Amino acid sequence: MTTSKAAPARSTEPPVDMLPVEDAVDRILSFCQRLPTEIKAIDDAVGQVLARDITAPFDIPPHDNTAMDGYAVQSASTDGASESSPVRLKVIGELAAGYLFKDAVGPGQAVRIMTGAPMPDGADTIVPFEETDEMGLRAPGQEHAAIEDVGILKAAGPGNNIRRRGEDVRAGQRVLDAGTVLRGPQVAVLASLGVGEVEVVRRPRVAILSTGDELLTPGDPPAAGKIYDSNSYGLSALVSQYGGIPQRFGIAQDTISALTAKINEALESCDLVITSAGVSRGDFDVVKEVLAREGAIDFWTVKMKPGKPLAFGDFAAPGERRVPHIGLPGNPVSSLLAFELFGRLAIYQMMGRKPQPRPIIRAIADEDIVNTDWRRVYARAILEQDSEGRWRARLTGPQGSGVLTSMALANGYAVCPEDRERVRAGEECDVIMVDWDHPLD
Ligand code: AMP
Ligand code: MG
Repeated sequence: MTTSKAAPARSTEPPVDMLPVEDAVDRILSFCQRLPTEIKAIDDAVGQVLARDITAPFDIPPHDNTAMDGYAVQSASTDGASESSPVRLKVIGELAAGYLFKDAVGPGQAVRIMTGAPMPDGADTIVPFEETDEMGLRAPGQEHAAIEDVGILKAAGPGNNIRRRGEDVRAGQRVLDAGTVLRGPQVAVLASLGVGEVEVVRRPRVAILSTGDELLTPGDPPAAGKIYDSNSYGLSALVSQYGGIPQRFGIAQDTISALTAKINEALESCDLVITSAGVSRGDFDVVKEVLAREGAIDFWTVKMKPGKPLAFGDFAAPGERRVPHIGLPGNPVSSLLAFELFGRLAIYQMMGRKPQPRPIIRAIADEDIVNTDWRRVYARAILEQDSEGRWRARLTGPQGSGVLTSMALANGYAVCPEDRERVRAGEECDVIMVDWDHPLD
């Protein structure tokens, strides 16, 4: 909790039976195997991971070509050229990108050439338009008239303004490694190699299941004693954000038969099952009973706040598959935060990505972050730079595990370590960055 001046005294010793966050990550990841591969069109594979190295079948660029609009000439033809005494060359043709020049450029000759066009035989340099008198050659209204000769205003050395064959990529070179995540530039490289389809690791299909008799689906009329199911919507959005394919299985009532049926339905098609609620220690929900009965699931308390209770393990699924399960706590902030810490990495590992931790920024806490019970506190914060350029972590209001808006306003978690009683306002702390964008941008 935060900002409380009179926090309850905490026990002098840390509790022994709580699982450190890192151990929970390791154990969860030990259930998550990389999925099989699939062939995808490159524009459908964005965010997925290459299963094989990609080797260039040819040089890129495939031929020497001009980097400027200008004239392709022999450099020797420009010797002695200056603004006061231009050298006049005969223009023997024009060449646009995409075409080959059929003749060769000889001494005293020039080809008017556009950026990207292959170098004509015989030419060894490009004189840009700006270093010719071409701008003054055509009278207004005559811009498209053929030019018969051009004055070169400056001597050109050999090789000027030429992009060499193979200067980007050589034939046979490994261009992208297996394991690369495909984003815009990588997809562009594939396209530049003429590759239209690639083998990538499949995205996990993630079943999301809410449990609890109190839950209503958004769109239902409000009802006394009930609340709307926010977890499955938030989780589904995060699953998509991290590259999985969310499949919401709705709300399971707190009965053995309802929950068992939903889980079995999910196991038909899913690679990972995420449930929320019903996993607290003292919880008499049927959720724990069903999870333990249907799968090899253990229940843990993790040294984190919010989000202490957590279940994980796996289910036996049709087709001799083992499907990992993460049982998140029910409180909305706990649920989303635990997904950020564990579910994101599980999805990454299944889709062949390295389960990398989030970047951490050291920032000055604007308020106290108080740790009452030896858990690592993840206070929802906005990271901002002050007028002197220092990073500051501003907490996003009340930090209760049901205060979902605290999550929606944050772009990072300011951490009070488990072994410290508080981070004081003005002290530096770690901020785990969830998003570099400010939520209001
Ligand atoms: P439980 O873990 O079942 O004890 O639930 C803890 C708290 O989270 C209770 O206040 C529940 O009403 C709430 N909760 C459980 N599931 C959801 C959900 N899907 N959406 C919003 N709140 C929930
Ligand atoms: Mg419940």
